Amino acid sequence: MRYISTRGKAHPVDFSGAVLQGLARDGGLFLPEVIPNLTPRLRELSTLSYRDLALEVFYPFAAGEISKAEWKALIDQSYRGFRAPEVTPLAQKAGQYILELFHGPTFAFKDVALQVLGNLFELLLERKGQSLNILGATSGDTGSAAIYGVRGKKGIEIFMLHPQGRVSAVQERQMTTVRDKNVHNIAVEGTFDDCQAIVKACFNDLEFRDTYHLGAVNSINWARVLAQIVYYFYAAFRFWEIEPGSPLVFSVPTGNFGDVFAGYMAKRMGLPIEKLVVATNENDILSRCVQKGDYSPQTLHPSYSPSMDIQLASNFERYLFELEGRDGEKTGAKMKELETTGKLRFAGKELSQIQRDFAAFQVDDLRTLDCIRNAFQQGYLLDPHSAVGVEAAKSLGYTKAICLATAHPAKFDEAVKKAIGQAPKPPLEISELLGLPTRCVEAKARVEDIQQIIRSTLGEKQA
Ligand SMILES: *Cc1c(COP(=O)(O)O)cnc(C)c1O
Repeated sequence: MRYISTRGKAHPVDFSGAVLQGLARDGGLFLPEVIPNLTPRLRELSTLSYRDLALEVFYPFAAGEISKAEWKALIDQSYRGFRAPEVTPLAQKAGQYILELFHGPTFAFKDVALQVLGNLFELLLERKGQSLNILGATSGDTGSAAIYGVRGKKGIEIFMLHPQGRVSAVQERQMTTVRDKNVHNIAVEGTFDDCQAIVKACFNDLEFRDTYHLGAVNSINWARVLAQIVYYFYAAFRFWEIEPGSPLVFSVPTGNFGDVFAGYMAKRMGLPIEKLVVATNENDILSRCVQKGDYSPQTLHPSYSPSMDIQLASNFERYLFELEGRDGEKTGAKMKELETTGKLRFAGKELSQIQRDFAAFQVDDLRTLDCIRNAFQQGYLLDPHSAVGVEAAKSLGYTKAICLATAHPAKFDEAVKKAIGQAPKPPLEISELLGLPTRCVEAKARVEDIQQIIRSTLGEKQA
């Protein structure tokens, strides 16, 4: 399978090129040249286990590059550490269908994809005899899931920047208690935006990027989207066992548009999804876009669902490319327009297409807490991100939506405590972290300082 850039100016690459490069050389994102159609196989796929289903979904996207036996081993390794044998079980709780995506090592849905990405990196690098130095910035969830995805892997070092004192205690512990020698945490004196700007500057410094083989793990990596497609199929099949023939609606708590774009891909691959609900918190650029065609970033409001506090959704570019009829030139022009004018507007045919694919709802902090409280009274504890999805589905009148639960409530215990007056009992894996030694270096929010840390760390390793 060949992968093309959403901006149409980079040479197509194969699957391993798309995974290892992350971002295309023209600044665009990779998408498969052809979207495989699974429609004729839906019945046969519906009886498979999560792992066997993942194999069938993944295989065509890397046909000729990764064999079924290699995928099978990789999938087994990726989901071995999950606490649920089904990987992503569908629960019927609090009057809703809840797709629990938080049974991985860091208790958030990003594990589902980052475990696969870590193993893919290892497989592809070993084949090519190459190494990769991952550089990323995190406001919490991505960092820990990425670190757990690549810890101890051959040929990979990971440098993860987080804003000092601005990630939750659990998130910080999850990152800094990992003792593997290839994991390097850097606490930056600054905000998440400072961290992200530094990472961006390092990638744009092409000499530095090439010399140090920089790689990315943020949600622009195609393999992350790919891994997330599986649970849309899996959940649909479980749902139809209970509600045969019912229309499929998914409610997706959304930040960077990665997860919900995976749902859109599942639809394009033949899963008959009636609607994908884009559920946002007060940072509502994506819900405004769906409701009114207004894609314009505004000032950031910190919310109870911090992993969805974003202004620009990087994966939206992938959808834009589809909306523009897969025309890289048009997509590139739109991205340029966004950069120069600070906004995009959709109307007419484009807006109707957006509204055929998606519905959207914005849930503020107060309603998020109400939703957690209501569900708790019905015997189920939601984390604030998952609550945004549940509340959005309810508000739009979808009584049989499959709501994606993206984090375990213990991971965001402060908001949960505000809602129900008590903190959730932490799972042993989380409470254990508090007593463990940590490893982290501190740095000023300066590009040179971070580059120096990377240089000297890698220098020492080689010596
Ligand atoms: C990252 C994250 C999200 C948002 O996912 P996107 O793919 O960025 O839309 C939602 N909930 C939690 C808990 C997350 O960590």
